[in-house]
Amino acid sequence: MREIETYKTAPTGWPIARVKEGAWAQKQPRSVAVVTGVTMHVTGVRGGFGVSPKLLARFNGDRSAARLYRYSTGWGVRAYHAIASPAEQASIIKLEAEVLSHHGHGLNRFTLGWAYDGLARALDDLDVPLARASLAHTIRDALEQGCPIRKIYAHRQSGEPRKRAGDPGPIIWSRVAEPVARELDLEIDYEWTTGPGLPIPASWRERPPELAVKPEPASPVGRLLAILGKRPS
Ligand SMILES: [Zn+2]
Repeated sequence: MREIETYKTAPTGWPIARVKEGAWAQKQPRSVAVVTGVTMHVTGVRGGFGVSPKLLARFNGDRSAARLYRYSTGWGVRAYHAIASPAEQASIIKLEAEVLSHHGHGLNRFTLGWAYDGLARALDDLDVPLARASLAHTIRDALEQGCPIRKIYAHRQSGEPRKRAGDPGPIIWSRVAEPVARELDLEIDYEWTTGPGLPIPASWRERPPELAVKPEPASPVGRLLAILGKRPS
């Protein structure tokens, strides 16, 4: 996985260099000291955001450069501070922690927005090693910028339930958020919500094998044998 921090290196002329007060992000003097968490999102685009032939031509066929530009300008992607891009096999940090970006409703003020650029409705859709490495990269970078990151949140906890209840969803939550929280010693407050947000449901959580629900035997005989501790032959 490539680690890219475009906020350090963005070519002049990119919108990222002109972040201003407005619709999606504010180059506000928010102190890094208020940034205590990361909010997790999924873009929900199968295969990730694409690059149009026109944009590709503008970057002389350099697909990576075109996509990085797209991430900085594209509606729905530009608000995130960081993106895990399976298409680019990269973790891209686009906005400094100081930028108050409008990615997560009531979580905006004190968190960074991180997004997996993909669908991730099934495990096959998710590049787990990339997503974990990217989230860890984002958090380490924020710590280096001086943010006292302590918690990981889901957009579901702050967003409009009808649109954000599945953001980022159980696959990303159980395979990425929880392991990275453990690895970096961060907290998850499952019951916490703000505004119209919803708690993180039990169904999103990792199930260690010893806690996994055993399937119920279907037939009455099967149930009886299960109670007696025997297997149907
Ligand atoms: Zn979201």
